[in-house]
Amino acid sequence: MNVRALRSSCEKVWSAVWVVAMKPQVVFVLGGPGAGKGTQCAKIVQHYSYTHLSAGDLLREERNRKDSEDGSLIDSYIKEGKIVPVEITINLLRKAMEETMKKDENKFRFLIDGFPRNQDNLQGWTRVMDGKADVKFVLFFDCSNDVCIDRCLERGKSSGRTDDNRESLEKRIQTYLQSTRPIIEQYEKQGKVHTINASQDVNEVFADVKKVLDKEG
Ligand code: UDP
Ligand code: MG
Repeated sequence: MNVRALRSSCEKVWSAVWVVAMKPQVVFVLGGPGAGKGTQCAKIVQHYSYTHLSAGDLLREERNRKDSEDGSLIDSYIKEGKIVPVEITINLLRKAMEETMKKDENKFRFLIDGFPRNQDNLQGWTRVMDGKADVKFVLFFDCSNDVCIDRCLERGKSSGRTDDNRESLEKRIQTYLQSTRPIIEQYEKQGKVHTINASQDVNEVFADVKKVLDKEG
């Protein structure tokens, strides 16, 4: 092999290595409203090298942005406990991942909290991210509806969230049962779900989360 050919094949290998290294590694974090997704993600990032992206937080930020074209649509979907059309959510997630990786190329591991919530979300993810990001597994916070409702009502006393009230919550629980559970079941069939008993207290839940992450990396 001459020097030029050698150099060219080395470059190919290096660019392949680079692409692999840079490909976002994603854990989807799912569970009912108030199951503790956000709380546990905040704890995970303190102990493991993950970046936490909450789809709900990104949507609320976009809703609050002064020039947002989607603000009022997002606002009404959230109050109604409905799932925002995926074009909006996926763009926010993609941008957040790109910006994180642009700032620091070592930050390619993401916890995506509260997404995908329905078939539309999952199809949108596949359409936009297939081949561009790897979904390593799903962390499923399994919590009874009663505990979820109590936690959200408690949170509602100080969260300022427009959907932490009984009326919105009943709709959110319905959406979760009808639309999100089937997504979790789909991943379960692929053997990709780690289920955590999320009705326990915060530290007990986190101890179980750690067991999963220490094994999965
Ligand atoms: N939401 C959405 N798509 C998403 C994530 C959230 O439409 O991918 C909307 C939906 O209306 C949901 C609300 O945002 O009920 C709040 O979501 P969040 O994940 O913040 O609530 P949590 O489940 O953490 O209580
Ligand atoms: Mg949340």
